[in-house]
Amino acid sequence: MLKGKSASNGHAVGTIVLYEKPDINVEEEACNDPEKCLKTLTDALDQAYNDLDKVREKALESMGEEHAEIFEAHQQMVKDPEIMSQVKAMIENDKVDAASAYKRVTDQFITIFEGMDDEYFRGRAADIKDIQYRILALLKGVEYKDLSALDEPTIIVAHDLAPSDTAGLDLDYVKGFITEVGGMTSHTAIMARALSLPAMVGVKDAIKTLEDNELVYLNATDGDIVRNPDDATLEKAKQRVKEQEKIKARLQAYKDKPTKTKDGIAIPLYANVGSDQDVPIAREGGAEGVGLYRTEFLFMNSDTMPDEETQRKAYEAVFKAFHPVIVRTLDIGGDKSLPYLEQDEEMNPFLGKRAIRLTLQEKELFKTQIRALLIGAKDQEDVRIMFPMIARKDELMSAKEVVHEVITDLKNEGEKYQSNIHYGIMIEIPAAALNAQSLAKEVDFFSIGTNDLIQYTYAADRMNENVSYLYEPFDPTLLRLMKHTRDAASEEGTEIGVCGEMAGDLDAALILSGLGMDELSMSPGSILPLREALSKVSKEDLKALADEVLKLDEAQPVKEKVKAFKEKHGIE
Ligand code: PEP
Ligand code: MG
Repeated sequence: MLKGKSASNGHAVGTIVLYEKPDINVEEEACNDPEKCLKTLTDALDQAYNDLDKVREKALESMGEEHAEIFEAHQQMVKDPEIMSQVKAMIENDKVDAASAYKRVTDQFITIFEGMDDEYFRGRAADIKDIQYRILALLKGVEYKDLSALDEPTIIVAHDLAPSDTAGLDLDYVKGFITEVGGMTSHTAIMARALSLPAMVGVKDAIKTLEDNELVYLNATDGDIVRNPDDATLEKAKQRVKEQEKIKARLQAYKDKPTKTKDGIAIPLYANVGSDQDVPIAREGGAEGVGLYRTEFLFMNSDTMPDEETQRKAYEAVFKAFHPVIVRTLDIGGDKSLPYLEQDEEMNPFLGKRAIRLTLQEKELFKTQIRALLIGAKDQEDVRIMFPMIARKDELMSAKEVVHEVITDLKNEGEKYQSNIHYGIMIEIPAAALNAQSLAKEVDFFSIGTNDLIQYTYAADRMNENVSYLYEPFDPTLLRLMKHTRDAASEEGTEIGVCGEMAGDLDAALILSGLGMDELSMSPGSILPLREALSKVSKEDLKALADEVLKLDEAQPVKEKVKAFKEKHGIE
């Protein structure tokens, strides 16, 4: 049995296809007839352009516009006049063959892009590499496996997968992915989640160990790859796959519908995202908006501080894709650190200079982010800025003051920006929940961060297994604290949602809906099951459930009440 990290949960049974791209050897040859060499090149470029047309159409069909756009950009790069003119000059002046000239020029572009500070441009280097391989393969007659022509249930095994590898996939037959490298945010991982296909990444030596055509049971839920499963395992695996398919098909009916209770009350379900790369997953998951954009991932995935322009692009991409988008300012500190930002050693980092406490002290960093947000949202209806870890009103007022300072700067510079600003705060510190009424007067919305609210309410580290018994979302004390916050928000006409993991737990989400939360934001995969569940009950049913559990004083009976509620209403 092989092990790895699960990047997308689920079960699959299929035969292995090892997907390797052979190295292409480009040795420089003399070109005695530049016209002929140029023709060879333009033929290859035309061919690549047409091939990409097919890939793009397939991507559009299976994964939607966002993914298809990648290939439109690739097509533009194939026809890029700057590259073309340099290659042409090299063939004509240096008399080198088409493949060498093309490689030399594109290598230069790759080096330039890879050396750029801007993360966006660094990402483009991978695109050029992708295209370079495609063209060189055509020029050198190198064949590689066509993943769009499969004829049996297949699990693709690769070192890594590039966008163009996965775009042309025959989705009738591809059942899962295994790659040797990559993390949760790698292309393979994102793509797999977007397609709801099981995937494991970081499976060391997968190519060396697994064999073409071998049968495997990919259990990405538990992180196992079972080679040549015995009859009993195979039977169990097939059963799991079947159940999974059945549920998936049933839930698809809810994908493009707004979330409504049986009596037609809307409870929008939003996605939590960490970058613009999560947009396709959020769409595929049926999100009605983004309820939490964790901007710190952009900072954590970079070796240097992302500048204003890099940030603006990242924010704009998500703003363009959804409305509303609740974007949270940097939540660094605690377990999230930035290697390039010097921070004092702290005894209790989760109780230390974290989130708003840090950004209020690192004012330039904070201002750059606010500028990027306001400029990035300039063409939208509004911008919804949320401050994390607010404990007291003075912090909120200082944060708003920073926004005002940024606005003054932008006005003086004549820069276009979004002036329709909705302010919000995370309610994740008990003091803020208890003081909700006063805070509600100063903001347009609250979002309860249950991940932290639980740890701070019970003084139980959210990562510490030794005290995990205290980390209990169903404890009525916590529910009452949330109810208090909800009531305070209502009195002031402030909207309130929940964006911690609890919102994505179906059982807990039923209680939160009953408490009267205006929206819930979660991992995209949790949206459709909850949408289905909410369609089976009325707002009154949910409220009655919440009223009942609020009277209890322990988690276990709360869970039992929810279980009975689900049974009564036919919720799976
Ligand atoms: C939370 O605390 O619930 C939350 C959503 O924020 P994070 O998990 O990023 O701390
Ligand atoms: Mg938090």
